[in-house]
Amino acid sequence: MNDKLDKVPFLDLAAQHDEIRDEVDQAWRLVTASNGFIGGLHVEQFEAEFSAYCGVTHCIGVGNGTDALELIFAGLRLGPGDEVIVPANTFVATVSAIVAVGATPVFVDVDPQTLLVTAAHVEAAITAATAAVAVVHLYGQMPDMDAICRVADRSGVAVIEDAAQAHGAEWSGRRAGSFGRAAAFSFYPGKNLGAFGDGGAIVTSDADLAKRVRSLANHGRSATSHHAHDLAGGNSRLDGLQAAILSVKLRRLDEWNARRRDAAARYRKLLDGVPCQLLVIDARATSVHHLEVVRVSDRGTVTGELDSHGIAWGVHYPIPAHRQPPFAGFHPTPLPVTERAAEQVLSLPMYPTISPDELERVCDALRSATDRKRR
Ligand SMILES: *Cc1c(COP(=O)(O)O)cnc(C)c1O
Repeated sequence: MNDKLDKVPFLDLAAQHDEIRDEVDQAWRLVTASNGFIGGLHVEQFEAEFSAYCGVTHCIGVGNGTDALELIFAGLRLGPGDEVIVPANTFVATVSAIVAVGATPVFVDVDPQTLLVTAAHVEAAITAATAAVAVVHLYGQMPDMDAICRVADRSGVAVIEDAAQAHGAEWSGRRAGSFGRAAAFSFYPGKNLGAFGDGGAIVTSDADLAKRVRSLANHGRSATSHHAHDLAGGNSRLDGLQAAILSVKLRRLDEWNARRRDAAARYRKLLDGVPCQLLVIDARATSVHHLEVVRVSDRGTVTGELDSHGIAWGVHYPIPAHRQPPFAGFHPTPLPVTERAAEQVLSLPMYPTISPDELERVCDALRSATDRKRR
């Protein structure tokens, strides 16, 4: 048997790109012919398409998702003395962006069923110093944004969405990126909408904030003069080549997300009776299943079995953000749900082109891991 054919990858970008190869080739030819390498026509076009997709009025293409978060915090003038509530169950970039502007991350725990932050967690953490809450749509699912926005609005706290794992996700029929004051997206290649390198975007319907972050991301330039610098900014811009690719891929995003949902539904059926715990998807949420996360009690045994079956896996995340050395000083309260989840979470292969056969093989391996434990 061919060993290579037998493996199930964690993510298969090549198979996805095969579906759009001609469009991608044509897009790159257009960019090289127009010399629009940084900013320019293709970036403007993608920004217009992506803001419309998210249901907001402004999109600013930037260098990556981490910069998008930091630019939002800087654009809101957050700094020393400002507290930003953030779930500890997230990728560290959400936290490092808060710390980068000099603000203080206030870690909160997550719901045990979804592993997402809730309005109750936010409400309990609000103090007189709270300036913002960074809500993370982790794994592709949004939390109850109506409730979170209500709690935040009542206290004058800005809601920022970290939507890096949630392109196209919805809460009550409204897309990720349209609830908060602003949202950050990442176009890292492995995200649901991924570039061929680093990329990111800020979306917002706040015209003043949009203007400020656009300037901050482009050397503090004034909107009207190339040589006038109104702010002390930096450089974090989206390439024309990446924007052209993203425009091609945006046209497929809903279909690709629907295929991920189909795969997730199949996982749910196939894992019936296997002792691993699936995350709950709220009936009001439309998840885009960026990651297919289950919880297992003996992760070492299970991953060993997956390895022996040639099935790739990941852990998101084994060390929660508040346990990482640079952020450990920021957390006075225990976060038991997050800490327990970090020991149990296991991400299974998930991509739009995953086949029924591949899904079955992943689930068979999980079943034999749990059988092995019983023996
Ligand atoms: C990927 C990711 C980021 C960072 O995006 P980059 O483009 O890699 O900088 C931030 N937050 C979350 C939740 C992510 O998954």
